Amino acid sequence: MQLFSLTIGGRAVTTDQTYCVINPATGETVAECPLGSVALLDEAVREARTALFGWSRLSDAERADYLNRVGDVIEQHVSELSRLVTSEQGKPQSGPGANLEAGGCLGWTRATANLSLSEETIQDDARGHIVLRRKPVGVVGSITPWNWPLMIATWHIMPALRVGCTVVIKPSPYTPLSTLRLVELMNGVLPPGVINVVTGDADVGGRMVAHPDIAKIVFTGSTATGKGVMRQGADTLKRLTLELGGNDAGVILPNTTLEPLLEKLFWGCFINGGQTCAALKRLYVHEDQYEAVVDKFSDYASKIRVGNGMDADTLIGPLTNKMQLDKVASYVEEARERGARIVIGGERAEGPGYFYPLTVVADATDEMLLVREEQFGPAIPILKYRTIEEAITRANSLDVGLGGSIWGDDVDEAARWATHLECGTTWVNQHGGLNPMAPFGGIKGSGIGVEFGLDGLKEYTTVQVLNVAR
Ligand code: NAD
Repeated sequence: MQLFSLTIGGRAVTTDQTYCVINPATGETVAECPLGSVALLDEAVREARTALFGWSRLSDAERADYLNRVGDVIEQHVSELSRLVTSEQGKPQSGPGANLEAGGCLGWTRATANLSLSEETIQDDARGHIVLRRKPVGVVGSITPWNWPLMIATWHIMPALRVGCTVVIKPSPYTPLSTLRLVELMNGVLPPGVINVVTGDADVGGRMVAHPDIAKIVFTGSTATGKGVMRQGADTLKRLTLELGGNDAGVILPNTTLEPLLEKLFWGCFINGGQTCAALKRLYVHEDQYEAVVDKFSDYASKIRVGNGMDADTLIGPLTNKMQLDKVASYVEEARERGARIVIGGERAEGPGYFYPLTVVADATDEMLLVREEQFGPAIPILKYRTIEEAITRANSLDVGLGGSIWGDDVDEAARWATHLECGTTWVNQHGGLNPMAPFGGIKGSGIGVEFGLDGLKEYTTVQVLNVAR
């Protein structure tokens, strides 16, 4: 069994206390994981603070070079990282799964290495010279969830390092292994203390948020925990990026030709078994086309194999943990009790692993939990609408706003309707596509701030204005 350690100040740190990380497809132990503590977190923050002095003073080009070397190391270990993700999280090796995630880790690292924030001149005339500079905010605390553990760790770590911050990361207790390995690999390249990792749950996370020497928290997780992070961070006036839960709506415009869109629609809903923040979680279909869409979509989904992600023909893996499996199953039951039609799936699988079948729920209504709450699993409610205005109003009726999509034959018309969705990213004829240069973040209860691109980099900086009299 592969051994894992924390990394603090460039040293591999083991702990007396460990716990088992479970493979969600088999119920077997993947590895014993060292269990971090508040004391180890404090040590990691001290190391990150010490390293900040040298790292923040490197030139922009030097840090870009370091990140490209990190990219080289990731590239050499992409398949190892991908297998770790499948083992601890469940997403498959085939299809848009663990290889996409490990490849994304590499792609985002390279893209971030190539970004650069330059000085902005505000005034340069006979009266004076005003320049806006961006400086690293300081030590960054990163807290990540279990659904895309390696990708989200990358999204947090790389921009912070790029602008001169140092980082302590705390992965989800369900999926720590890919992050432990990523940080170990990065420490083969970076100076000690620049990137540190400590495991743990709310105890360690809570201490990070309250820690006086952590300047900023970048948090990806549920809206409930995110609100707690904001409350807890108030005393030390933490800078925050919060990437929280979503409940993205997709609206298919009337008379849409479905066949060319089916594959994208399916993956928009079910990538990673629906355990994706910006997955399509409520599908609105015009009444004239409703039964046809339900039938075609269900038919497509019924041909997709759910199973152990290590099997080559598996395209959807299990849920990552029992908590999530129970939640999805209970939301589907509630919908059934309220009169929904379960077209495919809807029955929990027997045997080991946290499996739930791909489930299509027709005749879904706005009151159902499956519609109101984020199911974060492989069950999609399909809702009927009469007018587009009504569909958009219902799509906007929830207190979250991460993503949303409009689907239709006329792309310009779809794009016009897309602007009316209340969310951070609106897609047309796709759902969930990301680009390392395009800012991504939620509005309303889905979060504060953005990641990716230059706007994402700026979140790890503070503004300093130099104002010279002439
Ligand atoms: P979670 O909120 O339960 O946990 C997230 C992280 O917070 C974990 O590392 C956990 O250990 C830590 N944590 C728990 N209590 C804490 C506390 N009191 N203080 C500090 N840290 C604490 O979320 P999860 O179940 O791991 O992830 C699923 C959720 O994440 C879903 O709602 C999903 O939509 C959301 N998510 C959002 C995005 C996005 O970009 N907006 C991306 C992925 C996932």
